[in-house]
Amino acid sequence: MKKIIFAFASLCLMTGCQNSTEKEKNMESSEFNWVVDRFDDIEVIRYRVNDFESLTAKQKELIYYLSEASVYGRDILFDQNNRWNLAIRRTLESIYQNFNGDKESEQYKSFEKYLKKVWFANGIHHHYSTDKFTPEFSKEFFVEQVNALPESKLPLQDSQTKDNFITHITEVIFNPTVYPKGVNQTEGEDLVVTSANNYYRGVTQKEVEAFYESKKDPKDHKPVMWGMNSRVVKNNGKVEELVWKVDGLYTEALEKVVYWLEKAEKVAETSEQKIVLQKLISYYKSGCLKEFDDYAISWVYDLNSQIDFVNGFTESYGDPLGMKASWEALVNFKNIQATKRTDIISENAQWFENNSPVEDRFKKETVKGVSAKVITAAMLGGDCYPASPLGINLPNSNWIRSEHGSKSVTIDNISEAYDAASQGSGFGEEFIYGDENKRLLKEYGLYADNMHTDLHECLGHGSGKLLPGVDPDALKAYGSPVEEARADLFALYYIADPKLVELGIMPNEEAYKAEYYKYMMNGLMTQLTRIQPGKNVEQAHMRNRQTITRWVLENSKDDKAVELKKIDGKTYVVINDYEALRGKFAALLRKVQTIKSTGDFKGGKELIETYGIKIDPELHNEVLARYKSLNIAPYKGFINPIYTPVADSKGNIIDVKISYEEGYTDQMMRYSTDYSCLPSYN
Ligand code: ZN
Repeated sequence: MKKIIFAFASLCLMTGCQNSTEKEKNMESSEFNWVVDRFDDIEVIRYRVNDFESLTAKQKELIYYLSEASVYGRDILFDQNNRWNLAIRRTLESIYQNFNGDKESEQYKSFEKYLKKVWFANGIHHHYSTDKFTPEFSKEFFVEQVNALPESKLPLQDSQTKDNFITHITEVIFNPTVYPKGVNQTEGEDLVVTSANNYYRGVTQKEVEAFYESKKDPKDHKPVMWGMNSRVVKNNGKVEELVWKVDGLYTEALEKVVYWLEKAEKVAETSEQKIVLQKLISYYKSGCLKEFDDYAISWVYDLNSQIDFVNGFTESYGDPLGMKASWEALVNFKNIQATKRTDIISENAQWFENNSPVEDRFKKETVKGVSAKVITAAMLGGDCYPASPLGINLPNSNWIRSEHGSKSVTIDNISEAYDAASQGSGFGEEFIYGDENKRLLKEYGLYADNMHTDLHECLGHGSGKLLPGVDPDALKAYGSPVEEARADLFALYYIADPKLVELGIMPNEEAYKAEYYKYMMNGLMTQLTRIQPGKNVEQAHMRNRQTITRWVLENSKDDKAVELKKIDGKTYVVINDYEALRGKFAALLRKVQTIKSTGDFKGGKELIETYGIKIDPELHNEVLARYKSLNIAPYKGFINPIYTPVADSKGNIIDVKISYEEGYTDQMMRYSTDYSCLPSYN
């Protein structure tokens, strides 16, 4: 429910301060091979597990076991996405391994591209749009390849002839009217019947809704998440659930997952973590949702272990009814250096509150900063692989969140990889004005952006107070962009404060300029790349950014602190006076806080409507054309490192080696060969 996914890399978190070791790391970073593959609208990147070497042998062993448990669930997601996905993937892989025709032919190249897309999407539907892929190779080519394979290399169903198999599978792959959409959200249609996923079979939306309605007890204040771990089917006219569990549906994969979790449990870092793992294993065996809640609660309280993980049926984006959870995994460990930074910010929360430019009557007497955990991903699996989120907030159960809280994490090394991979894209050369700005962004861009996010999350949202009697929802639809603007402005104001250098969390007094430039450029220009021509700005964060930057631009008419300059037909953001710009952020923060604290609907509406929504069509078209010419892949995903355990003569693991040499196709084929245990038809 709470994943943050950015299709375009821009916002990120990163490790520690720009001290000498960090600089060394950055130098290495240019030698690390970030970009692995590019096909269609996808770029595949490698992420680097920073500081893996600094973990103890036992911690590495734990990561290794949890990683094995992550990869073994991969087949489950393929089958969840569509019932024919595993058979199709295996057929394509068989062709790929046995092909001995011309690999330079257009037909073969298109075939290979299709296979790469199927791997990336964990099935035959696009991972983001959920539209079915259209093969660019011909049906004839495909049929010829399948015919050339012996029956033993094809996933034939019981008693199915090869001809039958071919007829069926070509229909699923090539007929655009068969399973056109992974997740259909069109109002008025039967969402269950028309979605291609494998969560429901032979039942209608009405039947599913009635089935779960009968299970719910409105008086239960601690309801389980009904339906999250099962397929709904009809058996002799009766609607029932097939539960995903050991000895149930998907048992072949879940047994392996449990096998590795049991190994992990033996080397758990803390007693809390041991209990978390025991509860997860127990739930996988019973399929009982009460047990799942029990597990989720202990997971929330496991705060002292450095290593952490997600493993299980988690997010429900793949179900149009929002119940069925897709399988996913993420193994990670706390980035202690970066988490220290958010701790320092939180510890000084009162100082920031007292010294902010808002009116004193809107300041909180006692303010508590939120400290978010910054983590390093060590392994991605299931619905986190290859397309990965940048942050996760779990669990999803509402009552657990309000009674026990949740864990909010940002994944710094995934952001690092996004950023590093986009360095060579030509984006900076195209949109950033002048060498000085390019230098600032190169040197401090990622770090300052992370700091801005930290200030926004740890302080911005928690600062300020409403006057007594003011309705928190007084700003209605303008509430969200106004609130985001408030948090952003708080962060923009303070990122330039010498206090941060004094606290040791900003490297020097020029680093903030990188964030100022990036923010202004994004709000005024580059975020427009995500909007179709002729459309307005809709999304709250984008409205907020445009409101701030347009307001500042408008209020720079006299002193020219910020201006848009046109050079050779191209528009650039130019900042002439950083001090003055900071003063404008302060003035707007004061104004926005007043709107918020007094519940001034009219003021909020006027601000957002004047600056945040409408786009200058001429500038929009220019930005879109310049962006298009860069040919940047809109979607990115990641491959995992390889972990190799090192054992002593008695077979005890004494170390785990990490390597990054594997390519995209090699990794996918290895997973399909070594970690694939589900039958083709489940
Ligand atoms: Zn926010």
